[in-house]
Amino acid sequence: SIPLGYFGGIGRAAREGILVKGSNFLDALSKATIVAFDKTGTLTKGVFKVTKIETRNGFSKEEIIKFAALAEAHSNHPIAKAIKEAYGKEINEAEIKEHEEIAGHGVRARIDSIEVMVGNDRLLHKFNIDHDTCHVKGTVAHVVVNGKYAGYIVISDEIKEDAPKAVRELKRLGVKKVVMVTGDSKDVAEAIAKQIGLDEFYAELLPEDKVEIIEKLEKEKKDDEKIVFVGDGINDAPVIARADIGVAMGALGSDAAIETADVVIMDDKPSKLPIGIKIARRTQRIVW
Ligand code: ADP
Ligand code: MG
Repeated sequence: SIPLGYFGGIGRAAREGILVKGSNFLDALSKATIVAFDKTGTLTKGVFKVTKIETRNGFSKEEIIKFAALAEAHSNHPIAKAIKEAYGKEINEAEIKEHEEIAGHGVRARIDSIEVMVGNDRLLHKFNIDHDTCHVKGTVAHVVVNGKYAGYIVISDEIKEDAPKAVRELKRLGVKKVVMVTGDSKDVAEAIAKQIGLDEFYAELLPEDKVEIIEKLEKEKKDDEKIVFVGDGINDAPVIARADIGVAMGALGSDAAIETADVVIMDDKPSKLPIGIKIARRTQRIVW
């Protein structure tokens, strides 16, 4: 039977907008010692803005942003949204003949007879296309038109206001390690890790690499300790499923992630995690 105290704990958490899907997860939360956060949409707002366009090989800024916007037409990635917003014009769907999204890389599309690619260094490397290596403050989306490097778009995101506080609170509760895992570049990850006060970060990861990091962290903990992973569910559902406690953030996150998650934080605040841990620990004391 389930001790009564758990219902109190689950109810208290729910009133804070933290849905715990069972007493076993509340119990696990009280033993969390390692916390890993996804970056985009979890520690950062996930609201990207185009801050710079650099052209190469005779392309114009207008051309680059138009090709990129069309190629990203079917993508919901925050980078795609920023590019479409910067373009600002209606997209004629009929022009988009083919579209493929490559997780952790970018997109490829055929606009009438023109092949366009938009994505990171890894995407261009995959297709053997020479490009600039940029160290800029922001995420770089390279644009390739018919196999020719056309330049890059810089897209910037900002940290959520309560992210540094979330980390401080977790440390105050005795969590040993707070880390970030991201598919974004090392430069971007390092800048954000510094701003937020994270212990470690892992960058340039594919969704499946994130699972491996969780497995690596698992080897660092003692038997009774638990690992929490917090993501927004956009391509991190496998990690949410793999962690001892998978947390999905944002009620508007993907359905798959919300279903897979052990805990759902209804609003977008990372600082709800330490609150959840506090409630879990208090509940433990009442139960035992
Ligand atoms: P995160 O771990 O920050 O949530 P993702 O795994 O969603 O990042 O993506 C990792 C990287 O892959 C992005 O930083 C970007 O460089 C590239 N990428 C993914 N999807 C797209 C897209 N639709 N357009 C351009 N680049 C993309
Ligand atoms: Mg993500």
